[in-house]
Formats: sequence, C-alpha cells, structure tokens
Amino acid sequence: MNTILIIEDEPQIRKNIQQILDLEGFSTITAEDGLEGLDMAKKHQPDMIICDVMMPNLDGYGLIEVLRQKPFTANIPFIFLTAKAENSDLRQGMELGADDYLIKPFKADELIRAISTRFEKRQVLTQRYKTQIEQMESEIYHLVRHDSLTGLPNQLFLEEYFNQNRLQAYNQNQFLPLLLIDIDFVYHTQLLFKPSFKHLLLKDIAARLNELNSPDPIIDSICYLQTDQLALLLKPVQDSQVTADIAQQILANLSKPLIVNKQEIVIQATIGIACYPNDALQLGELLTHAEVTIEHYKLDHTHSYHFYNPEILDVIFRKFILESDFLQAIEKNEFLLYYQPQINVQTGKVVGVEALIRWQHPEYGMVSPAEFIPIAEQTGFILPLGEWILKRACQQLKELQAEGLANFKLAVNISPDQFTQENFVQHINDIIASENFNPDLLELELTETVFIQDIELVKNKINELKNYGIKVSIDDFGTGYSSFKYLHEFSFSHLKIDRYFISNVDKIETKQSILKSIIQLANTLKVDIVAEGVETNEEVNWLKQNNCDVIQGYFFSRPLPIENLKVFLLAQ
Ligand code: C2E
Ligand code: MG
Ligand code: MG
Repeated sequence: MNTILIIEDEPQIRKNIQQILDLEGFSTITAEDGLEGLDMAKKHQPDMIICDVMMPNLDGYGLIEVLRQKPFTANIPFIFLTAKAENSDLRQGMELGADDYLIKPFKADELIRAISTRFEKRQVLTQRYKTQIEQMESEIYHLVRHDSLTGLPNQLFLEEYFNQNRLQAYNQNQFLPLLLIDIDFVYHTQLLFKPSFKHLLLKDIAARLNELNSPDPIIDSICYLQTDQLALLLKPVQDSQVTADIAQQILANLSKPLIVNKQEIVIQATIGIACYPNDALQLGELLTHAEVTIEHYKLDHTHSYHFYNPEILDVIFRKFILESDFLQAIEKNEFLLYYQPQINVQTGKVVGVEALIRWQHPEYGMVSPAEFIPIAEQTGFILPLGEWILKRACQQLKELQAEGLANFKLAVNISPDQFTQENFVQHINDIIASENFNPDLLELELTETVFIQDIELVKNKINELKNYGIKVSIDDFGTGYSSFKYLHEFSFSHLKIDRYFISNVDKIETKQSILKSIIQLANTLKVDIVAEGVETNEEVNWLKQNNCDVIQGYFFSRPLPIENLKVFLLAQ
C-alpha cells in the first residue's frame, strides 16, 4: 500500500485531505509544519508528499530544498498545495523539484487525479529503470564470466558449467574430461611479444577448436585461463578412448598453421587431461592435475596429449623437494664426484677419467645426475653447481697427481647453460688457475645441443679454450644435432660415441656400419674417439678390431668414488 505524507498547518484542511486519501485506500501520515514534515519524510520515506507552501518554522520551499539534497528523499514525488496562484510562485516550486501543484481550494477528484498521475508516471519510470538494470546485470554477468581480451569464457564460467553438469555425469556413470591445452609457438616472430597478438591467436585457436563441434558437438565449452592456456570441457563420455580420440583430433586440427595478421604461425600443443570424478571431484583440483601433467611431459613430448595419473604428482613433488634442497646441498657436502676411467685397450693404460656427479640426498639416498641435472638446468642452479664440480674435480685429481697416480686427463661435463655464459672461458680459466691445475690435462665435454646456438660465438669460445690449452670433446655423439659442418670447422679433441651405438655392436650389423663410418670420419678429421658405455668383452673386441682404442664403460670399471679410483689405479 502506498503511504502519503500530508504536511499542512491548517488542521481542517489536513484532516479533509487525510479523509479523502484514506477513503481511496492510501495509508496516510501527517505533519503540522515544515520541520515536523522533514523529520517524518526522513523517518518513513513515504511514497509521496503533499505539502502546503506557507507554514510556520520551515515553509514548503525550504522543505523541498532540503529533501531533494538527501539521497533517500530526493526522488519522493512531491505535490505542492498553494493558495497563491501567481505564476512566479508556481515556477519557483517546480524549479525546486516539485512534481505538481494544486491550488486551494481544490476538489477531491482533482487531488486524486494529481496523485494517480504521479504514481502512474513513477510506475513507468520504475519499469524503465528496471529494464535498464536488468540489461546492465546481464552485461555484468557476461563480463565477469568472459575474458575481456579474447572474449572467451573464463574460469568462473567453466566452474559454474562444470558444477551444473557433474552430478548428471556422476549419476549416469560417465566421465567429464577436462582438457588443458598449453600452446607453444614453433617459429617466434616479433609479433608474439605483443600481448594483443597472442590474444588474437588464442581466439583463433578457440575458433579452430569450435570447428570440431560439427556435425556432432563434442566440446561443451572452450575457456581462456589467465595462464594463457585453453581449458576444454568435453561432453560426458563413457570411456577414456573417446577422450583420447578427441585429443588426437584437436592435435591434428592445431597442426595446420594459423594465419594471423597475414603471418603464418605454426603452433605445438601439449594437452593435459584430467577426468571427473576419477581424478578429482572439484574443478580446481582437476585443473591442477591437468597442469602438472603438462608440466611433467612438456619438455620431452611436443604436440602430444597425456592423461593424468597420481604418480605424476609424486614425481613433481620429488622434483620440487630436490629443487628446494639444492642450495643447502652444497653447504652440507651432499654432492660427490665419482670418476670413471677411460682405458686405451692397445696399451691397457688409463688415459683419462670422467668426473660424474652424484647427490647423496638425506631423504632419497643416491640421486642420479640424469634426474637432478635437468632440474638444475631449469632453475639456473647448474651455474654454481658447475663451478663446484670443476673446482672439486681439480682438487681431487691434484691429490692423485701428487701421489704420482694420475698422469692423465680429467674430463668434466659442461651444460649448455654454462657454456652460453658470456664470460664462460674466463670463468673456467679462473677456476683452474686458482686450483693450480694444469690446463693441458683438462677436457670439457659438450653435448651437441650447444651447436644450435650462434655458431660463430661457439667457435670463438672453443678456440679461446684451445689457446689456454684446454681440450673440448663432443659427448653423446650421434644422438643430437650432428652436423658435418661443425665437425669440420671446430677443433675437438674427442668424439665420445654414445652408448646407443656401442651396445651389442658385435651383433647388430646396422650399428657396425654406422660405427665404422663414424670411425672413418674421425680418422679423416684427425679427431680421437672414445667409446662410451662398453659393457661386454665382445663389444671391446669388436671396437679393438675396428681401431677404436679408448674405451669407457662398466666392462672396465663403473664410476668410482675417489678412494676406490685410487685402489683401481694402484692395481694397474
Ligand atoms: P654422460 O656424460 O654421457 O656420462 C656417461 C653416463 O653413462 C654416466 O651416467 C655413466 O655412469 C654411464 N655409464 C658409463 N659406462 C656405462 C656402461 O657401461 N653402461 C651403462 N649403462 N652406463 C654407463 P651418469 O653418471 O648417471 O650420468 C648421466 C649423465 O648426467 C651424464 O651423461 C651427463 O650428461 C650428466 N652428468 C653427470 N655428471 C655431470 C656433471 O658433473 N655435470 C653435468 N653438467 N652433467 C653431468
Ligand atoms: Mg660425459
Ligand atoms: Mg655421454
């Protein structure tokens, strides 16, 4: 029921108006002057005010002025009652914000009509505001559920969508697969550094993926996440083979180049898949599981899809622990160097040892470098670790030299990240100088990945090392980026042939042909060869017969701690 406040100092008029309005079904309240009217208006916030102009304490003009300034009373419809019929007075009232006026004396139906018109107008206004507010609400609803740059649905949208659908999937014994897609760009163009370009690309990729929805819809929603990844919820499925097929289709679809701003962009995607309810019940956890799956496989498998399994979490957790234990490990002396002898089979003499690092971890026991070196490379820890390795190896070899046991070279593995350091050569030289180690007895083992870098720079560094007397060899030869060009241009002291070619070489003819060509090539280039990972007498014999004389492998010795190496050397 609408409440009307009547403010009138004449008791009889006030009473008359009240009776008329009560009869019409309004609820009324009254005030005897402007000040009391102001109080009542603030307190009750009526739906309308009918107010005399001339009143003691505060007149009608003064009252409306105050009311219009207060947010809670500013919009209350206001009708003046006045005995003054002067035009100028009426205008003053309207200018102050009155909606209408009635000149006393007025008839009951005049009063009712004025009031009804006001209420009708307000109704129209209210409806208009309501529509506007509804429109704004739906815009806001859309805005908070979509990414402003790509226009794609966002994580909130995904979350709500997931929550709406999961119960049904659960009840029908189905899975809801979540696919997280991580995009890599194969050829980097300058444009990729522009965030707007990247967003454009992601939008295009999403549009591409939408094509997969015809003729039959298979993807429920494609969302953009703040991590620059796309998350897809599939329609509920019965088994993982369906999901695998869809993931395969997605990869095939994304392997066609994209054209954006007239640029051809080749992308590679890694897809991590986690399924409700087996892998997690909440979306947040599903996303985390899909993310760790990507993290786990991304380095080794490009353009591929992988399902989450709980063991991944263990691996990631272990990686995380190793990563956070690195710094203390040096201080706590947990790193050890083992040494594996290299033997010349013609003379039977040790011609060198390769330093191989080990980590005696307090919780995990002996950790292999194959596990922690890649982590050290990813985190940058390889730089201080590499420095420690070289120092330590020089110190231990010097001790053996002092006992007359080690008149041979020391081979130390160098990571590509160490080699790319700007002052790499100076750094190496400083270390061996401070340890007073003879550079002629030092050999650095580089892997072929180094040669993907600026080739002139690599060449200069290798020549600089050579000028100091330090030798450089290629490790794991044949497994990486082998190129005749760099073999010819760079002066290496050794090629270390990877174990892959050595194992069972006496039995496998194709390996024999490959090894023979490598040996011939090395002879032509006047580079010595070391055979890595030799395990059997038959392998040794084959290598010997084919002029590959220097051998490193379990057949002669596993990598040994320094004390055991000493025993080995003494026995020789
Ligand atoms: P790598 O430099 O090619 O070292 C040879 C690896 O083959 C060593 O593994 C060695 O123990 C193993 N090996 C030697 N003979 C045999 C054999 O007869 N049979 C088999 N199955 N394996 C054999 P390890 O010590 O586990 O090292 C693995 C890799 O980790 C190394 O490969 C190297 O790339 C890296 N690494 C080891 N120590 C260091 C280091 O001090 N610095 C850097 N940057 N990397 C290192
Ligand atoms: Mg090596
Ligand atoms: Mg090797």
